[in-house]
Amino acid sequence: MTNSNLAFNKKFIGAHVSAAGGVDQAPKRAKEIGANAFALFTKNQRQWVAKPLDDKVVANFKRLCVALGYSADQILPHDSYLINLGAPDDEKLAKSRAAFIDEMERCHELGLKLLNFHPGSHLKQISESECLSKIAESINLAHEAVPNVIAVIENTAGQGSNLGWRFEHLAEIIEQVKDKSRVGVCIDTCHTFAAGYDLTSTEACEATFAEFDKVVGMHYLRAMHINDSKNECGSRVDRHHSLGEGTIGWSCFEYIAKDPRFDHIPLILETINPDIWHQEIATLRRFHQEA
Ligand SMILES: [Zn+2]
Ligand SMILES: [Zn+2]
Repeated sequence: MTNSNLAFNKKFIGAHVSAAGGVDQAPKRAKEIGANAFALFTKNQRQWVAKPLDDKVVANFKRLCVALGYSADQILPHDSYLINLGAPDDEKLAKSRAAFIDEMERCHELGLKLLNFHPGSHLKQISESECLSKIAESINLAHEAVPNVIAVIENTAGQGSNLGWRFEHLAEIIEQVKDKSRVGVCIDTCHTFAAGYDLTSTEACEATFAEFDKVVGMHYLRAMHINDSKNECGSRVDRHHSLGEGTIGWSCFEYIAKDPRFDHIPLILETINPDIWHQEIATLRRFHQEA
């Protein structure tokens, strides 16, 4: 397949590329690896505050996305790792909510419509339900502050006190979000597996996604992170691996590439060796073409 018709391919496959030097550097980095989707941080993910986006950078980002064939459906910005939208402490919660609204505003400014984030942690200070309610209320507040952008909750591996590792957690958050049209889910294969859902065969994938559909609903699936895992199913440890080199194996990724339920959403690699992202993308695309 040539690069030019990649833009029209319904399978949106890419990676989380660097935005070093400015967000407008990301589209061409995605193009270089044969991606027709990409993820990026719109600010330094390890700092609370960033300077506002420069107007010229915003204009250049939009121009390059159009020129290289990336629509807002193919781009999955990820928020800062510092944010805890379920923080037990009021001051930290307020700080997280302000930072999240800023992230959402940056997406809006860039003409993007998805914002991928990790739900939050109870830090063993409040109950799971209380934490999930705080997360939902954080989403409601962001919706009130910023138009259009969809809050895309990422499922987690369940490390420490991170919530969102059980599909029921995701459902409980969504249930309390007022504007259901602006909330969605990003399923990370590594996190799903680490959380205890089997993905090691076609049958296992069928069962896991049937469970997701029953508990959350496939219509909420707005993006995926495509990662193999270094750890066993149910380990609750978040360690990504290159596709086919970990404990999940290729059958899961072949399943996702071939199944049309995973068309038209960003499928983003966060695998550990960026030097082979172009190969991983090419293999996924080959599976898709075989379907
Ligand atoms: Zn992820
Ligand atoms: Zn992870």
